[in-house]
Amino acid sequence: MIKDDVLALVDTGEMLPLMEEFYTIQGEGFHKGTAAYFIRIGGCDVGCHWCDVKESWNAELHPPTAIDQIVNNAATYSDTIVITGGEPLMWDMNPLTKALKKKDLKTHIETSGAYKLSGEWDWICLSPKKNKLPFGKVYDEAHELKVIVFNKHDLIFAEEQAAQTNKDCILYLQPEWSVRDKVTPLIVDYVMKNPKWKVSLQTHKYLNIP
Ligand code: SF4
Repeated sequence: MIKDDVLALVDTGEMLPLMEEFYTIQGEGFHKGTAAYFIRIGGCDVGCHWCDVKESWNAELHPPTAIDQIVNNAATYSDTIVITGGEPLMWDMNPLTKALKKKDLKTHIETSGAYKLSGEWDWICLSPKKNKLPFGKVYDEAHELKVIVFNKHDLIFAEEQAAQTNKDCILYLQPEWSVRDKVTPLIVDYVMKNPKWKVSLQTHKYLNIP
């Protein structure tokens, strides 16, 4: 049972339910190929049926961890820190990102945008999900839009989402891993016909790294 004082610190973002943290290569999107330290925060209620981190969904399974501890670990590995989940925006990201910036670290987030945008970000990867759509200023502030393609209809969804982003936002279509053989040719064809889009692959999975 988690004590009330700990829950209060989680509420203010001074502690966060930490699922895992690891140093690896960013496999996806604009920064693919870049060494980065990943911090995976527990908690997500978006419910994508193809989600490959379902263990992240229940925040209660992941120990509330002081952000100072998270930041000190991160700083020893990399100057590029990717906050992912789960859905990190379920929590107040201001204290964590402020502490990372104080150490001159670059803050990146991977989010569905389904919760209010908080935190100071050098890079926002918005990966919208049909189940729970993004809202508010995340569309204006996103640096990249990454739409996961599971079937043909997701290309229509991708266009609907792209229409809401800012003009500098880089647009990516990424095959959902379990159906990659089927959807990758669709994406390749679509990007050649609609070159405002780019292909993003989960290169870390091809490299067999986390
Ligand atoms: S938003 Fe991300 S973590 Fe949440 S269910 Fe979807 S893929 Fe999984």
